Amino acid sequence: MEHVQMNYEKIGLKVGLEIHQQLGTPTKLFCNCKPELFKEEPEITFLRKLRPTQSELGQIDRAAYFEFQKGIKILYEANRATSCLVEMDEAPPHPLNMEAVEITSMVALMMKAKLVDEIHVMRKTVIDGSNTTGFQRTCVIALNGEIKVGEKTVPIQHISLEEDAARKTSEESNVIHYRIDRLGIPLIEVTTAPVIKSPEEAEDVALAIGRILRATGKVKRGLGTIRQDINISIQNGALVEIKGVQELELLPLVVEYEVQRQLKLVNISEKLKARKAKEENIKEEFFNVTDVFRHTTCKILRKALDEKQRILAVKLAKFRGLLKQELMPGSRLGTEMADVACFWGRVGGIFHTDELPAYGITAKEVEKLRDAVEADNQDVVVFVADNPENAKDALKAVVGRAREAIKCVPEETRAPKPNGTTRYMRPRPGSARMYPETDIPPLQITEEYIHRIISRLPELPEQKLKRLMEEYEINQKLARQVLDSKYSEMFEIIVKESHVSATTVAAFLTETLKALGRDKIQVDKVSKDQIQEIFSKIGIGELTKEALPNVIIWLSKHENKSVQEAIEDLGLKVISENKLRTFIDKVIEDNKGLIQERGKNSFGVLMSIVMSNLRGRVDATLTSKTLKEKLKEFMR
Ligand SMILES: [Zn+2]
Repeated sequence: MEHVQMNYEKIGLKVGLEIHQQLGTPTKLFCNCKPELFKEEPEITFLRKLRPTQSELGQIDRAAYFEFQKGIKILYEANRATSCLVEMDEAPPHPLNMEAVEITSMVALMMKAKLVDEIHVMRKTVIDGSNTTGFQRTCVIALNGEIKVGEKTVPIQHISLEEDAARKTSEESNVIHYRIDRLGIPLIEVTTAPVIKSPEEAEDVALAIGRILRATGKVKRGLGTIRQDINISIQNGALVEIKGVQELELLPLVVEYEVQRQLKLVNISEKLKARKAKEENIKEEFFNVTDVFRHTTCKILRKALDEKQRILAVKLAKFRGLLKQELMPGSRLGTEMADVACFWGRVGGIFHTDELPAYGITAKEVEKLRDAVEADNQDVVVFVADNPENAKDALKAVVGRAREAIKCVPEETRAPKPNGTTRYMRPRPGSARMYPETDIPPLQITEEYIHRIISRLPELPEQKLKRLMEEYEINQKLARQVLDSKYSEMFEIIVKESHVSATTVAAFLTETLKALGRDKIQVDKVSKDQIQEIFSKIGIGELTKEALPNVIIWLSKHENKSVQEAIEDLGLKVISENKLRTFIDKVIEDNKGLIQERGKNSFGVLMSIVMSNLRGRVDATLTSKTLKEKLKEFMR
């Protein structure tokens, strides 16, 4: 994208984050199932219809009601290890998982938040089918915390504990497939105040929160285990929520694109007002223009006509040229209209005159179309081919989006795409959708409980960073990498137990393992115990540090084999100092001529001969030292 230097302060950018992190407890939040995802074919499937009761919904939001009206069916998939009757909504939830409550309380106290006196599990209405019950269970654990990010204090509004939802695996026309393995995995939710003022700051704040979560040592890691919702607004724009960004590095770009999108929508709104476009002149008046395209060569329309579908059109007064205005890479105002048309009208897409003639639609047909809807030079015509009901719903949504374009930026929920741009997901849901979970009694939080947690609070990440640098004499970059890696606890244990230099251990646990991972080596198959054992062998001189990568690679390919077996199979058994000296003597003897010719300059060649024979079985520093001595001796 064109990189404009943006004055975010001036445009009044405000960003708030809502971070969802899965906890690494042995069981789920409301039952004893394993909090894991399965890849195999499901053992159990069951079909449900979306049918929320009016009383549960109270003030129902438009999108939810709409989904429900469409008569969508949900096919749930499960296996026995990761789901029981609780996830299937056939049995009541068990009491709250107390370990999850403890981890969440810990995070809250690290963020200086105030724990609630009593935990009340609430039901939050969710009727997209991602919860078999029609609601998500959630409870506030603490309020009004804060974290330091550089010099800035960022208020934390609340810290909650909730159950993760089922995950969508596929979607057919009116059947959505959800896998309920993820349903019930404990999730911690951390919500910041909307005080973030730039795209970079959004990443910094998310990173700082992530570090505190990981400092507990009790959170899951890996893609999909942390998801961030971003609320973004600018002064003349609107509050837009972008849901479920998984990659932290994507955050600044998502914010940047959303700012651009809103600025461009503001600009379009100004243009429309200058053209004297009026919301009341964008009418829900749909024209049957099927006859216009009776002999069309456009393949999509041809196919629709052969299937006896109808083509309906609507006029957007004064919109000419604006639908092709780019808002983000690959997305125009026309794209946003198509998105809402697909969502509300279940159609495949729309056509509009800003992009025509094209797709086999001729200038002549466009002219006839304009006549049919009485459009003048300043107007755009949008049309869609489908059954009349879908086509009408789609065009109604287009009319709604056009009216919003005149007003300004619509409030909505958007979903991120892998390149950092976003697409329409649904209107922003209403807020009054909580009611108490009657199956779980409230839980008192006593002073004693709080004291017990405080006495076991982990170090704050910034303190730990400083301590790692001082205690282990490693530089800040390496200390930061250790802190952010999943091996940060292991680092300290290994250094203390093995006496291998801290820099060697740190570089291995961060850089070497990352590099091996990039080379598609499955380092996760090597257990933490094995890594510790390898270092203790290095510490007592049974293995050289040069051999480390090879041992890891071997173990990653031979599951259930021991470190000792790796060493033997790779022929890495360290040879004794005596044997090393004998070997060096022999190399010197074999290369007498070379040494006489080049003198001490022959060292490099000799060293490479020794190492190519003994690599991984001798320590390089010791070898070099011994070879130097022997060479000196020989030359004397
Ligand atoms: Zn279960």
